[in-house]
Amino acid sequence: MRKKYAAGNWKMNKTFEEGQILLSEVVNMVKDELTHPNVQVVLGVPFPYLSTFSKLVDTPKVALAAQNCYPKASGAYTGEVSVPMLKSVGVKYVIIGHSERREYFAESDAFIAEKVDAILAEGLTPIFCCGETLSQREAGIHFDFVKGQLTNSLFHLSEEAIQQVVIAYEPIWAIGTGVTASSDQAQEMHKVLRDHLASKYGAAVAEEISILYGGSVNAGNAEELFSQPDVDGGLVGGASLKSRDFTDISKSFP
Ligand code: 13P
Repeated sequence: MRKKYAAGNWKMNKTFEEGQILLSEVVNMVKDELTHPNVQVVLGVPFPYLSTFSKLVDTPKVALAAQNCYPKASGAYTGEVSVPMLKSVGVKYVIIGHSERREYFAESDAFIAEKVDAILAEGLTPIFCCGETLSQREAGIHFDFVKGQLTNSLFHLSEEAIQQVVIAYEPIWAIGTGVTASSDQAQEMHKVLRDHLASKYGAAVAEEISILYGGSVNAGNAEELFSQPDVDGGLVGGASLKSRDFTDISKSFP
């Protein structure tokens, strides 16, 4: 059975003190309330908090993610953070290819592919984000566009390696807008992506890969989204900043 994920992406929010409060609330609620054995909670928090937070998380139900990384292991790359550094402070997941990084920091599919390799080389799990703009959807090219993102950044991987990747489909028009994709729209794209993975790696491998949905997921819509057969959880922005809402989302699996 595919692993299910409730992943939070705090983005550039919360001071250290505020973050510590939110973290402890989420950890305590998840420990008390989350009974689904196959659900992994992941919290993508700002870089400066990762080291302290990894000492505060005292349950395997919750793991920490970085929101970015640099593909080189070390060297003269002022201001960047490598995967071995993240690993050394207990990070297990790295969010990469987020549309905000693609747009504001001009990250290409090829650069994101380098990050995928760097993350897998250290035994961490990439959470690979993909998704189309509204104009691409309106032009009817959304399926081909998102399939291309997978092809360009992931299809160099071996059959074994691709199964270590978590994919997050995040339509850009649904991020931070309050307009979520309908459960039908999410399921439709997730099925297209799983079929695309199957075309390259075979159906059995594609069946093992978790595909999350992101874009205005909240405590009210998570249950319907997560009940879709190809939706294996969510990558949650705004609602991950509220401990009650985020914990409820983590409990919204069938
Ligand atoms: P929102 O949940 O705020 O729409 O953000 C989604 C997102 O970008 C998660 O990575």
